[in-house]
This record gives sequence, structure tokens and C-alpha cells, in this order.
Amino acid sequence: MAGARAVRAAETSDSSRRLYDRIGEFLVDQRLEADPGNYAFAYHLLANPDGPLARAVYALTDGGVRLTKRDIETLGCEVQPSADDGKVAKEKTEKANGLVARTQMQVEGFQDMVTAMRAETEGFGRDLAASAEAISRSTEAAGVPAIDEVTRLTTAMLDRVRSAEARLESATREASDLRRELEEARDNARRDPLTDLPNRRAIEEAYAAQATAGTHICLAVCDVDHFKSVNDRFGHAVGDRVLKAIAETLSQTCAGHLVARYGGEEFAVLFTGVDIETARATLDAARATVATKRYRLRESDAPLGEITFSAGLAAALPGDGLSTVFHRSDRLLYSAKTAGRNRLHVECPETDI
Ligand code: GH3
Ligand code: MG
Ligand code: MG
Repeated sequence: MAGARAVRAAETSDSSRRLYDRIGEFLVDQRLEADPGNYAFAYHLLANPDGPLARAVYALTDGGVRLTKRDIETLGCEVQPSADDGKVAKEKTEKANGLVARTQMQVEGFQDMVTAMRAETEGFGRDLAASAEAISRSTEAAGVPAIDEVTRLTTAMLDRVRSAEARLESATREASDLRRELEEARDNARRDPLTDLPNRRAIEEAYAAQATAGTHICLAVCDVDHFKSVNDRFGHAVGDRVLKAIAETLSQTCAGHLVARYGGEEFAVLFTGVDIETARATLDAARATVATKRYRLRESDAPLGEITFSAGLAAALPGDGLSTVFHRSDRLLYSAKTAGRNRLHVECPETDI
């Protein structure tokens, strides 16, 4: 049993070693720095030699051509997570969620316990102080000499109670800090770090809550036009800045509604409590604002050219899940793209006759 485990461990370490060596050879061969970005790129490529990334690289390097930094940036950001990656990520998220929930329960239980103990010790301290005073008064009146000793004892006990109170107070503070940190961690899991917008999970939860409450919902799916060309011409970092700028405009123009980064260069807006015409006018104002801005590179003042997005907008019908209405909005987005981009296609409301 232990022997079989040892053999398996040796096999795993052998294959890890081989992969590691191949990554090294690849980096040397391509004259690439062994920085984390290039290393991760080589890892994705060599760990999955039949994947889409590997096919793209083999097509580029056929005939001995070397990869450039630009190739790596472009290909690197197109690495699609495999189905297995998705499963592992989902398991990790579920595990993290379970941990957060369990820890939060522990913290809450602990905090309640500490609060109850504090109330008890405060009462005990008060009673003790009152008893000491009473003993002191009665023994003084009777002229009993043991009073000094009794007073010393009760004073020592009072000191202990006070020090316990101080320790409990600091534990209560720690528990509150921990609770705040957990809430922050939970919030981070629902936020996109690049744009600071709510992420896909956040919009899924918000949609479910609003649909349960019976709120009127419209959902917009927005996709930046020809965004790949922004990355290709100016680099990934500039592309990131463009995404942040669009996120900001959408948030400002659609204030009061939930704007989320749904993934990549796609944003979703959950309009609640407004009719589709109001949602259309709001989103179209955001589209026009983005399209009329003149984007320039901070460093060189060079113009980036026109940045636009297209969008599809649909109203949720009673009983629709997010995926159903998203699918309708996404089809409208697709038709906006094929109609020439920088436009918004809206579902025609159903008319009763
Ligand atoms: P279309 O108008 O048809 O939407 O064209 P497009 O170029 O926007 O669409 P495509 O799907 O071909 O390319 C999307 C690009 O968005 C590819 C990917 O590299 C880039 N991208 C996705 N996420 C990010 C990101 O977080 N940062 C940057 N800089 N680029 C990203
Ligand atoms: Mg897209
Ligand atoms: Mg796009």
C-alpha cells in the first residue's frame, strides 16, 4: 500500500520534472526571459499540447519562427480555461464559500458568547464591589480586626475581574475585525478586480433576488467593438485602461442600476424598476458618451481612435431565469454587431390585442 503510494508519488514527481524541463527548454529555445508571464504561457502550452493555444503557437512557429512578446500577450490572453479548469475553479469557489459560511457562524457564536460573558462579569464585579463595601461597613461598626484581610481579598478579586473584562473586550474587538474581514472577502468574490465592478456572480445573485421580489427587470449585454485590435495596436495594458474607462462611463450613466463586468470585454446592465424604453434611453446615452470621447494615450498623447460598444437589450418575462433573458439580449447584441456595431438593438415589447 505504502509502496504503491511511493511509486505513484515518484511517477508524479517524474512527470512534473519532465514538464519543468520542457518549459525551460522552450524558454531558452524561444530566447524568452524566465519571467512569470512567459513561464505561465509556456506552462499552459506544454501542459496541454493538443489545446487551442498549442495549435496557435505551432501555426506561428512553423518553420522555426520565434514568438515575440506581442505574440505571447495576444495568445496568452486568449487562453480559454478547459472544462477541467472550470470544474476545479467551481470546486474551489464552493469550498471557499463553505469556509466563509462556517467561519462566519463560528465568529457569530463566539461573539455572542463573549457578549454574554461580559455582561456576567460586569454584574459579578458590581456585586462584589457592593459586598466588599457592606462587609467593610458592618465589621468596622463591630470593631472586627479581620477587616483588612477581607478587604485585601476582595480587592484582589476585583482586579482579576477587571483584567478578565479587559481581555474579553479585546477579544470582542478581534471578533468584530474578523467579521469585517470576512465580509470584505465575500465582497471581493463578487467584484472584478480590474474595473472594480460587480462580476458575473454578483449579477446572477442580484437577478435572482430581484426576480423573486417580482421587480420589473431589463437586461442589457454590451460588448466592446473590435477590442482585439486595441490590444493588437497598443498592448494589453492599454486595453485594460480602455475597459476601465468604459466601466466608469457605464456606471455613471446607468447609476441606480447594476453594471457588471460579465467577462472579457463584455458588460451587463441589470435595469430594475424601469420600463424598456427608459432602459434603452439610458443605455443609448452611455453608448453615445463612449463613442464620442476622444481617447488618447496618457504617455504620448497619441489618439487611440474610436472606441465603441454594441449592445442588446431585452425585458425579462415572469419566470425567466437570467440565462433565458441573457440569451435574448445576446442575440440582439449579435444582430447589433452584424448591423454595423456602435448601436443598440432592443427587443420589441409584446403587444396585447
Ligand atoms: P467584436 O466587435 O466582434 O466584438 O470584436 P472583438 O475584437 O472585440 O472581439 P474578439 O472576441 O475577437 O476579441 C475580444 C478581445 O478581448 C480578445 C481578448 O484578448 C480581449 N480581452 C478580453 N479580456 C481582456 C482583458 O481583461 N484585458 C484586455 N486588455 N483584453 C481583453
Ligand atoms: Mg466579446
Ligand atoms: Mg468585442
